[in-house]
Amino acid sequence: MYPWQKNVRKVDPYVPGEQPKTLDVTKLNTNENPYPPAPGVAEALKTMDADLFRRYPDPDASILVDALAKTYHVKKEQVFVGVGSDDVIAMSFMTFFNSDQPVLFPDVTYAFYKVWAEMLQIPYETPALDENFRIRAEDYKKPNGGIIFPNPNAPTSIYEPLSFVEDIVKANPDSVVIVDEAYIDFGGTSALSLIDKYDNLLVVQTYSKSRSMAGMRIGFCIGNEALIAALNAVKNSYNSYTMSEAALTLGAAALADEAYFKETTGKIVRTREEAKKRLTELDFTFLPPMANFIFASHKTVAAKELFEALRAEGIFVRYFDKPRINNYLRITIGTPEQMEKLYTFLKKYVG
Ligand code: PMP
Repeated sequence: MYPWQKNVRKVDPYVPGEQPKTLDVTKLNTNENPYPPAPGVAEALKTMDADLFRRYPDPDASILVDALAKTYHVKKEQVFVGVGSDDVIAMSFMTFFNSDQPVLFPDVTYAFYKVWAEMLQIPYETPALDENFRIRAEDYKKPNGGIIFPNPNAPTSIYEPLSFVEDIVKANPDSVVIVDEAYIDFGGTSALSLIDKYDNLLVVQTYSKSRSMAGMRIGFCIGNEALIAALNAVKNSYNSYTMSEAALTLGAAALADEAYFKETTGKIVRTREEAKKRLTELDFTFLPPMANFIFASHKTVAAKELFEALRAEGIFVRYFDKPRINNYLRITIGTPEQMEKLYTFLKKYVG
């Protein structure tokens, strides 16, 4: 066969069925936000001049970087943006993780870390979560070439306190520690408050969940200026311009409406708390959820069977056919109406 990158055959392509072409399903499978983006986004879209698209986008992404710096009370030199947090994380793997020492990330966690490590041929080790599915800080205190974990973790939804994050960051002054906060706006405390104290900490966030803009592909990270300068150097030599002008403009518009952001994330948290009650009544157990999803297991009916029965009914949830987690369903928190459909079906099926 041809001399392809040796790890190409090791990666599993994304399951395409998870993004159906029709809107006619109850979609609780990919942790999208069920509410529309802030009204200011639709307004900005209406007034956008198509001539904007004639030119290449601003390589400094200034509109968005400045708006993020203002929102998160940091300098613009501390902000880097990308095409979804996936892009930001991929770029961080290229920039910070060297191939002499293994990168550390948990087993179980977000599946893409392994994909990037494989594609970039970076060695990695995946310490197992403990018996309660928690990340063990002790596993991240050995020589390494970088660390990444989500907080809350995915797909467990478990949040580790700020002191836990600080412990790991402090123990690894010579490695970059990336905290992937894709789900932080649904309850936890962000590690952003530690940024000025540690020059090896990079906090990654996304518009895909709490800001309802998964389709616009906007992610960002905040860290020490030297880390951000390195990311920009890599981006500008490899992936120049990166984000579309549309994404930059609409991303900045979304930040202007803090009240809407609080209202919609608050609604999701309240629906999640109700879901804990309702799923318990239906004989589910779950890991303590702090994200916009619940990782739940039924006491008697197998997760795979439930997943298939739900899908046949047009109710999409996520199932992972992987050791340790193959009796769980990851259920995205939707609107109260969507959740009622789920409970009604489950009641008929398992009740
Ligand atoms: N990190 C985690 C933990 C995620 O679950 C996701 C969503 N699949 C991402 C990053 C990527 O999100 P996006 O590229 O949409 O910002």
